Amino acid sequence: MTRRFDDPKLVVATHNQGKLEEIKKLLEDYSVTVISAKELELPEPDETENTFVGNARIKAHAAAQATGLPALADDSGIEVDALDGAPGVYTADWAEVNGKRDFVHAMTRTWEALEKVDAPAPRTARFRCTLVLAWPDGHDEVFDGRIEGECVWPMRGDQGHGYDPIFEPVGYDITLGEMDRWEKNRISHRGDAFRKLIAGCFA
Ligand code: IMP
Repeated sequence: MTRRFDDPKLVVATHNQGKLEEIKKLLEDYSVTVISAKELELPEPDETENTFVGNARIKAHAAAQATGLPALADDSGIEVDALDGAPGVYTADWAEVNGKRDFVHAMTRTWEALEKVDAPAPRTARFRCTLVLAWPDGHDEVFDGRIEGECVWPMRGDQGHGYDPIFEPVGYDITLGEMDRWEKNRISHRGDAFRKLIAGCFA
């Protein structure tokens, strides 16, 4: 049985303002006050696991233990089939250049890796988003969202973020970088995971 969320407050285990706003918007119809780990000045735990669910669990349980409140965390990334699922949990790391994130670098690296293995078309991939809602007593609920598509080159579009300009979802001939935000949220891995979370714990 999925445990329902029945508290007045929820901690969102993120230091990312954009993610926090997105989550507040998604939960605005439910009577819950959303507080971020950043506002509470919680430390950011090291993401030491090699799965999305492992890292989301670390973040959610750390925040729940530190505050005594239920906490929600997400972990996301892109898995490219011809690269055996890479960059996967290392999606953000592939963008690191001299301590900064550069997604043109990350996308170029991904495409070069595909060229190196001479991957046949379509170069299938998916974005995944795993959400973990953890309670202070150690219980958690996990929701996995995904969007299937293929990697394309050159990069196209200046909307969205991260790897969006090289990802064409199944059924579209535009990249996520060329898609408006409303449409992207409707079909994205994050939207999928949040719909499952809301159906399971909030609705
Ligand atoms: P994290 O979950 O914030 O650690 O994000 C993991 C990485 O996946 C980041 O580098 C993001 O840029 C990338 N990523 C996650 N979701 C998306 C997306 O919707 N579009 C493009 N890149 C994404």
